[in-house]
Amino acid sequence: MKLTFLGAAQTTTGSMHLVEANGQRILLDCGLFQGNRKEAFEKNRQMPVDPATLDAVVLSHAHIDHSGNLPTLARHGFRGKVYCTPATGDLCDIMLRDSAFLQMRDLEYVNKKRASQGKNLFEPLYEQEDVDKIMSRFEPEPLKRLVDLGNGISLVFHNAGHILGSALVQLDVKQPGGRSRRLLFSGDLGQPDQPILRDYDYPQGADVLLIESTYADRDHPSEEDVKGRLKGFIDDIQQQKSKLVIPAFSVGRTQRILYTFNRLIEEGRMHPVPVYVDSPLSLKATQVYAKHRECYDEEASDILRQGIDPMRFPGLKFIETPDQSKALNDLPGPMVIIAASGMCEGGRVLHHLQRTVGDPRNIILIVGFQAENTLGRRIVDRTSPLKILGDEFELNARVHTINALSAHADRKALMRWFDGIKGDNLQRVFAIHGEPDKVNAMTGLIAQHGVANAVAPVPGQIFENV
Ligand code: ZN
Repeated sequence: MKLTFLGAAQTTTGSMHLVEANGQRILLDCGLFQGNRKEAFEKNRQMPVDPATLDAVVLSHAHIDHSGNLPTLARHGFRGKVYCTPATGDLCDIMLRDSAFLQMRDLEYVNKKRASQGKNLFEPLYEQEDVDKIMSRFEPEPLKRLVDLGNGISLVFHNAGHILGSALVQLDVKQPGGRSRRLLFSGDLGQPDQPILRDYDYPQGADVLLIESTYADRDHPSEEDVKGRLKGFIDDIQQQKSKLVIPAFSVGRTQRILYTFNRLIEEGRMHPVPVYVDSPLSLKATQVYAKHRECYDEEASDILRQGIDPMRFPGLKFIETPDQSKALNDLPGPMVIIAASGMCEGGRVLHHLQRTVGDPRNIILIVGFQAENTLGRRIVDRTSPLKILGDEFELNARVHTINALSAHADRKALMRWFDGIKGDNLQRVFAIHGEPDKVNAMTGLIAQHGVANAVAPVPGQIFENV
């Protein structure tokens, strides 16, 4: 088996790894790079493999840094299948269309500028018809089913407990002589005991492991702290009649926040306050969450059985049109605005930030990992003034961070999972999906937990005979 690490190596975005075995070329994930706009724009255009030479893609989950470059494959001659779970397929159907729309809109802006400077215009990365093409190649497979990929390679998905539909990928490759070699790819691992979703599985027998490292150097506070802190922020904005702005990914984080508000209200701990979810994608994603109840844990299933929709509550409103979104600017507080994108790199959250960052009564609540060179990271670092959509704004609003709302496992949960899947055969471990200090922390932890020689590959690094 030969492995090439093409993305999410020494960084958290652009997840893409090539597995070559028994004459097959299989891509694990096909994500978009995010972060520095210009750099990401160029990286995403340079597909590091010829799509026409790939036999299949196996997709761990729908987040755009894992799935967002799939339409580029279809645009450039990919003829294979894309294997994923049914919920991941449904989420990709809405997310890839949204991604095509966003990047076409960004391109229009860039091309307008280039046209005025007399420069040649850029081609789109992909268009809606490329999304149609790639979606027709999707092959949804439920968890635990053995899927034959041909040439002695088989695939099984296990639950990763990260977002709806997220999976651990197990590939078995038959070796000459009959024995199989098992590769396990963690995708993104969820924090156990998070609401709605069942916890990750512990598939056994891996020889080779690719493990994510996003939070390999820290532990999250407990779930109870999250509820308490959210309640505190709500009390605060109710008193101050101000705004709480939560930049959040439309898929995963948003549903988790809605669920927490639902619990606080059902438990009588929070008075309803207007909560606006300002993202058409969030509405669609919440509908996909409602459809795939096979992914729910016991608690969420119980709530459903009581006839309560765990992601709805009094005061909640989904905003659909840009005009409705802008109208929120003129409404007085208190109010909560949950809007994408999660790293403040685009989307409607930008105009809400423009209107709120200057007022010290407002709260900006950061609930997810913020990659380097994003506006979200500059907010966390309390950089002032902030440049938002080309204009500068003083940052006077209070900035808070709740890391426990991250859909990623923390250090303790990563190592609990590692200890649970680690068997006698495990010889090769690759620490991926983390900034350099995180993947290095992970290789150190892996050594402490009994597997020497774990490596943190650099982009493009090739490993033969794995
Ligand atoms: Zn993810």
